[in-house]
Amino acid sequence: MKVNRIIGQYKGQNEGPMLVFTAGIHGNETAGIKALQETFKQLEVHKPTINGSIVGVAGNLPALKEGVRYLDKDLNRLWLTEDSNSEITECSERDEMAKTLDEVLSSQKKDVYVFDLHSTSSESTPYIMLSDTLRNRELGKMVGVPIMLGLLEHLKGMLVEATSRSGFPTILFQGGRNVDDSTVSNHLGLIWKSLKFKCQLDTSVVPGAETAIENLNQFAAVDQDHEFFEIAYSYKIKKGSKFVMNPGFKNFQAIGKNEHLATLDGENVKAPFDGNIFMPLYQAQGSEGFYIVKPIASIWIRLSRRFRLFRCHNMLHWLVGVRKINTNPLTFKVDQHVTFLWAVEVFHLLGYIKLKEDGPILYMSRRENEITPPSGEEAIEQFSDKSYLRSELEQIETEWKTPFSEV
Ligand SMILES: [Zn+2]
Repeated sequence: MKVNRIIGQYKGQNEGPMLVFTAGIHGNETAGIKALQETFKQLEVHKPTINGSIVGVAGNLPALKEGVRYLDKDLNRLWLTEDSNSEITECSERDEMAKTLDEVLSSQKKDVYVFDLHSTSSESTPYIMLSDTLRNRELGKMVGVPIMLGLLEHLKGMLVEATSRSGFPTILFQGGRNVDDSTVSNHLGLIWKSLKFKCQLDTSVVPGAETAIENLNQFAAVDQDHEFFEIAYSYKIKKGSKFVMNPGFKNFQAIGKNEHLATLDGENVKAPFDGNIFMPLYQAQGSEGFYIVKPIASIWIRLSRRFRLFRCHNMLHWLVGVRKINTNPLTFKVDQHVTFLWAVEVFHLLGYIKLKEDGPILYMSRRENEITPPSGEEAIEQFSDKSYLRSELEQIETEWKTPFSEV
């Protein structure tokens, strides 16, 4: 597929937020691009009134042209790193994509929301992945489909983590299987729904918009206790080994302990416990074979919101085996030999992510000050300051001027 970096742009008549949609970060995932092309076509024809603006930005252009996930390296693992090898196609793609985003954002003074569009190799219903901040959760809940927490701790260097760290409310939307027509429709549902709720679009003005939203709404979480899921297990494929997933697994399908899921170099790979299988790998490229996920009870979601707003992180250093680094409550050092069993879960509950593991020592960092999160303008400034190129560790080190080796 041949596509321009800017898929389309539409500016409303009134002031309002900017919705940034990125698609095709993986070159074999074209459904998001098709949905954006269709969106801009409709907007041009019908010229509906909206408050704010929308822009579509394409990701890995050379990989899109070839119809492959990536050429040299996965473009969605190259953010929050300085990796700038000019021989790697995706490093220059990242820099060009960031430059375009920077140009697009420079005209904006108000809130910006980022939506990164993807699709999967296996059969799947739509779901959302996000960096666990209260603002991102709120944006995810607007869409209504199940939300996956915790995955970004396993998959480092994703665009959504970089834009979220810069201060833009961000979600990653998986619209369904790459090859299914319904996946384009699901992406359209997301786009029209976002324009409706964030930019006050009257969806009855655009033919097909309401149907796309209704179609997407079919995949709403069954109840409050199935709105959020978390990763309970991830299966990493060792480099150079041959991994073959057993055929027929669908995303979120229930699996039992010891169920035969795949083979690795001819040996059986079995489920370590009960749960729901997630992102089974049905393509040649990729280093994560599958995940096992579990729903999170809604009481925990509500509690964690309260805890964060009541600044409970200020008490974390009272826990045994937990030390504040410097006086900044953004990062803690946790000694797993000394601390209690559920320490990491407590940190997750309060919006912290594991940044680094050094033997038994964990470095847990909070993604955002959730009481006074950055404004749209501050986020734009941070992004144009190339915050997306600094590793999460380095961002903290720069903030504190204290390297980790000295603490
Ligand atoms: Zn993808």
